[in-house]
Amino acid sequence: MLQKLTPAKSIEYLKSLGITTLSGNEGLSLGLGAVDYGMSPVEIAGAYATIANKGVYIEPTFYIKVVDSNGNIIMEKKQETHRVLSEQNAWLVQSLLTEPTGTGLTGAEGATGTRARVTGMQTCGKTGTTNDTTATWFCGFTPYYTASMYFGFDNPKDGGSGVPGSGTVAARWGGIMNKIHNGLEKASFERPGGIVSGRICRDSGLLATENCEQDQRGSRVYGEYFVKGTTPTQSCATHVKIKICKETGKVANEFCTDFEEKVFITRPNSDTDTSWQSAADAKFMAPTQTCDKHTTKPDTVKPEITLKGEATISLKLKEVFKDPGATAKDDVDGDLTSQIKTTIKKDNKEVKQIDTSKAGVYIITYTVSDKAGNVGVKTRTVKVGDTTQKPGNNTINSGNTITTNTIKH
Ligand SMILES: [Zn+2]
Ligand SMILES: [Zn+2]
Repeated sequence: MLQKLTPAKSIEYLKSLGITTLSGNEGLSLGLGAVDYGMSPVEIAGAYATIANKGVYIEPTFYIKVVDSNGNIIMEKKQETHRVLSEQNAWLVQSLLTEPTGTGLTGAEGATGTRARVTGMQTCGKTGTTNDTTATWFCGFTPYYTASMYFGFDNPKDGGSGVPGSGTVAARWGGIMNKIHNGLEKASFERPGGIVSGRICRDSGLLATENCEQDQRGSRVYGEYFVKGTTPTQSCATHVKIKICKETGKVANEFCTDFEEKVFITRPNSDTDTSWQSAADAKFMAPTQTCDKHTTKPDTVKPEITLKGEATISLKLKEVFKDPGATAKDDVDGDLTSQIKTTIKKDNKEVKQIDTSKAGVYIITYTVSDKAGNVGVKTRTVKVGDTTQKPGNNTINSGNTITTNTIKH
């Protein structure tokens, strides 16, 4: 953010907020709070009070006036005052600063300053920790008071580790502020006009889409406030729905038959540094490779069986039956995996052979399959005997079994 804003712009604002200890040479680490000469707690309190005071800076003072025994004013402090932020922007920063106390839009998870909360009051603030915890801060405010708290040393080089963590500082800050607010009426900052809310994607900061709701971690959509006219106009393009080949886990191509649709995150390569790819959410990033296993059109065509002879054969009792058989072919790739198999059923029950000594109807089923598992089926009906015929009229022959035919491509 600071890179987009530029340190120079940030320094301009910090000066306007009453910070006088800047060297003016601060770089991008300023975004993490790194300054050449540090900041004084009273100046930081003045800066935070500006946010609490709807964007108007009021110079901090240790006294208002000094009067003599007759009530004459000997000294009076004239506090310098000017506007730094619009009322709307000040309110947005107030809203933002409810996140560290766990009372903001995104809840208490991961909030570092939850112990700073002042009972009955909207509590805004921020923890701060220097390298190796040589100094820690908590600065914050309620609608009534602003306070900054610093744990550390006059000279940073005197420090070792040994100051309490910023969460502890937040707890101390909360302890003092709760006493100061004792007996005061509950209060929160009033939302000014000119603020609108929008459904925003956490990952892109842009308008949420259906895809943002279907992130693998759950919905990434939340309600965010904006100064009217600054709501994003673009929709999230970070969340994308991609067809994934279930077998390879890569992006499905036109030949993959077993795939699923999944939502992934993608990010623009806005800089050459790709170290963010090892971020915690990198595993939700879209695969870049396309399935290289399924490269031909899937075979979904059933092999075709052609019967030799009639589909319905009528036999006299005792007549010898020889199955005329069938041929099979596979139009796509000729990858038949078996010979034609036959099964015989009589009255829906499987039988071994056609017995021509008794009347009955037999169904012969011919099946053949190919490598892709497509199965071709054909049936033939064999009717033995005739109820109008008398059994004695037929010549005697033993029943015949049928044989399996070989495949013809
Ligand atoms: Zn999104
Ligand atoms: Zn595939």
